[in-house]
Amino acid sequence: MVKNKIKKEGLLIVISGPSGAGKGTVCRAYLRKHRETILSVSVTTRSPRRGEKEGVSYFFRDKVTFKSMIENDEFLEYAKVYDNYYGTPKEYVFKHLEKGHDVILEIDIQGALKVKKNFKEGVFIFIMPPSMKELKRRIVSRGTETPEAIMKRFKSAYDEINYINEYNYVVVNDSVEKAVAKIEAIVTAEKCRVDRNRDLYTNICEGGLCE
Ligand code: 5GP
Repeated sequence: MVKNKIKKEGLLIVISGPSGAGKGTVCRAYLRKHRETILSVSVTTRSPRRGEKEGVSYFFRDKVTFKSMIENDEFLEYAKVYDNYYGTPKEYVFKHLEKGHDVILEIDIQGALKVKKNFKEGVFIFIMPPSMKELKRRIVSRGTETPEAIMKRFKSAYDEINYINEYNYVVVNDSVEKAVAKIEAIVTAEKCRVDRNRDLYTNICEGGLCE
């Protein structure tokens, strides 16, 4: 059993949006610039795609193992996405937050909503494609899916966009560079929030009035 209680010191940054919006590309570009930020590696029951590595892209597990991880309360959240299961390993995320590292979760909308319920102090960012036409082009150009799977992803992208109101921020991914700059601005602003800095101003004011 993994504990639920943590001292939330790093920032939990949840990034989601429709498949094909470019979340993965934006996250990777952000992480290249911010080496101290950790990307949570999810567990999935889907098969690896070409070039994907165990423990880097995902932890690839069969359904029986995934089920036993659910029973052992090892997930911060998990969801069924396109016929496969995906989950965020709780211990990994908590360990890094406690050390003061920001942690990015690149997860689907169902997962983000579950995290939001338990961690209101998380920062929830929705990545939008510049247009639906561009979204379809990106899904097709991956070349890793069957035509049926492409259609399924494209249709659910329409539905997913309705959840945008559940998020704190929206970032349109028209250029990766601009999207990363916006996420940097969001992270900076979040870290300056008064409710995240109670200790700081208590310390500064501790001595009272000076001459
Ligand atoms: P893909 O199969 O393309 O890698 O991912 C499919 C979807 O699953 C994406 O929207 C991705 O963000 C989401 N996903 C990846 N990891 C997790 C996770 O741990 N939890 C949830 N809820 N969704 C995830």
